[in-house]
Order: sequence, then structure tokens, then C-alpha cells
Amino acid sequence: MSATITFRKTKSGEWVAYGPAELIKPGPVVVSKKDGTTVEEVIERVGAPFDVGGQPMVYGYLAPAACVNCDQPGATHHRRDSSGIPGKVCDRCNREPWYMLSFA
Ligand SMILES: [Zn+2]
Repeated sequence: MSATITFRKTKSGEWVAYGPAELIKPGPVVVSKKDGTTVEEVIERVGAPFDVGGQPMVYGYLAPAACVNCDQPGATHHRRDSSGIPGKVCDRCNREPWYMLSFA
């Protein structure tokens, strides 16, 4: 069994980090994607461990990404700023026109 953290979709349709209990703690973790690349996510809380083949496994619930425009949590919209830099913004900043956004 590989000791890596991967993404898993829960029954409610939420993406979570899934891996050995000793690897998933609140805070930043590196998650391996299906295409072999990795991405850093922040674990907000860890679910109850459950046994998979004798190893305790957990779901790590991801903290909402911070808005790249105003630094508030809850960024869910993909946008580009006035310089063309891609990033995720919150609901409020998503209402701004592109030339008002600045991610750098
Ligand atoms: Zn914002």
C-alpha cells in the first residue's frame, strides 16, 4: 500500500484528501493527483479513522482556498486579473470586472 495522500470524492460530492492517519493532519499537506502531479492543500479538519487492510485511514477536509484578490477564505471562482494571472477569487471579488482584480 502506498503511503501517499490522494483526492477522494465523498458521498456528498465533496472533494477530500484521503490517506494514512499518520500523514493527514490539520495544516498544509501535499496531495498526489491521478495524473502524477502533486498539489498543496490545507487540511482544516480530519475525519474519524477507519481501517483499510489493517491501516488506519482518514479523510482530511480541505480548508476553502483563500481569495487571491482580498485574502479572505471562500475562493471558488476561477478568474484572471488585469495582468492575465489566473487565480481563485471569492463571491464578492467575482463581481468585480477583470480590470479591477490584482492577484500579484
Ligand atoms: Zn475576494
